[in-house]
Amino acid sequence: MKIVDYLKQSQRTVFSFEILPPLKGQSIQSIFDAIDPLMEFKPAFIDVTYHREEYVFRQLPNGLLEKHVVYKRPGTVGICAAIMNKYKVEAVPHIICGGFNKEETENALIDLSFLGIENILVLRGDPIKNEPHFMPTPGGHTYAIELLEQVVNMNNGKYLDPELKLPFKTNFCIGVAGYPEKHFEAPNLKTDMHYLKMKVEKGAHYIVTQMFFDNKVYFNFVEKCREMGIHVPIIPGLKPLSSKKQLSALPSTFHIDIPEELVKEVEKCKDNEQVKQVGNEWCVMQSKELMEKGVPCLHYYTMGRSEAIKYIASKVF
Ligand code: FAD
Repeated sequence: MKIVDYLKQSQRTVFSFEILPPLKGQSIQSIFDAIDPLMEFKPAFIDVTYHREEYVFRQLPNGLLEKHVVYKRPGTVGICAAIMNKYKVEAVPHIICGGFNKEETENALIDLSFLGIENILVLRGDPIKNEPHFMPTPGGHTYAIELLEQVVNMNNGKYLDPELKLPFKTNFCIGVAGYPEKHFEAPNLKTDMHYLKMKVEKGAHYIVTQMFFDNKVYFNFVEKCREMGIHVPIIPGLKPLSSKKQLSALPSTFHIDIPEELVKEVEKCKDNEQVKQVGNEWCVMQSKELMEKGVPCLHYYTMGRSEAIKYIASKVF
C-alpha cells in the first residue's frame, strides 16, 4: 500500500522507523533482531537507508598506496524485499543520486517495481567520506529533484529510451527529505524551502523531516510550508539522544540544534546509561506533544538502537 494512502485512511498517528543495513559480513538476522521488538507497535512502514561507496587506501609491498572502493553497508533493496516478505509491512528503500548514472537508476527502479516495492524515499545522498562536497556521478543527478523527475517520468511510462514500445508505468509513492532547521548547504531556510516546494510540485507525495529536538522548530516549519502552499503530509523524524558525545556529534553531522534544557540535563548525567534515560524521556515528551497536535506519523531513527525506540513507542502508542 502507498504510504500516503495509509496515512489518509488512518484515524490516528501511526508509527514508523528507519533502519541501517548491517555492515558487510553480518547476516540479515541482525536486521530481524532489530525489527522484531518493534513489531508489536504495528509500524506503518520501515525505511532502509542507502549508503554510498567509500574509498580506502591500502598499502602495497612497495610502500605505495592503492585506492579501493568499498561498500560497507550494501543490501538496501534485498533487506526491503525480505522485510515485506517476512513481516508483510511496507518497506521504503532510500534511493540516492550519488553513485548512480541515470541508466543504473532506471534499472534499480525497475528491480524495485518488480519486487512489489511501491514506496521510495528520493534523496540526493551524502557526499562520499573524504569528499568535501557532493559530486554528482557522471551521467547521474545533481539534486534530488532531478531523480524525482526520473521516477515521476517512469510513473508516467516515460523511460530514458524513447523508442521503448508501450513501456509499463511504475507506481511509486515518493517521499522526499525536509529540513526544519535548513539543509546545511542552503544559504537560508527560505531558499531551501523553495526547493522543497519544487520537489512537491514535481510530484513528491510526502516529506520526512531531519531529526529535531525542539518541537517548536517542526511546528514553525510546517506552518511555513503550509503558508507557501506545500500541503503534503510532513512526517516528523525523531531520534533519542544516547550519549554525551552526541551533544556535539549530532549538530556537526546533521546541522541541527539541541535545546539548552536538554543539554543541561545531559551534562548532569554521570554516564551514558543516564544519558539514554534522559534522551528517551525527552523523545517521549516530544512524541506525545506531536501526537496531541495530530501529526500523521511519528518516524524514529533507530540507528541500531531498537530498545530505545521500543521503550518510547511503549509510552506513546
Ligand atoms: P536536495 O533536495 O537535492 O537538496 C540539497 C541541497 O541543494 C539543499 O541545500 C537544497 O536547498 C539545494 N537544492 C535543491 N534543489 C536545488 C536546485 N534545483 N538548484 C540549486 N539548489 C538546490 N543520505 C544518504 O546518503 N542515504 C540515506 O539513506 C539518507 N537518508 C535520509 C533520510 C532523511 C529523512 C533525511 C532528512 C536525510 C537523509 N540522507 C541520506 C541525507 C541526505 O542525503 C543529505 O542531507 C543530502 O545532503 C541532501 O539530500 P536531499 O535529498 O535533501 O537533497
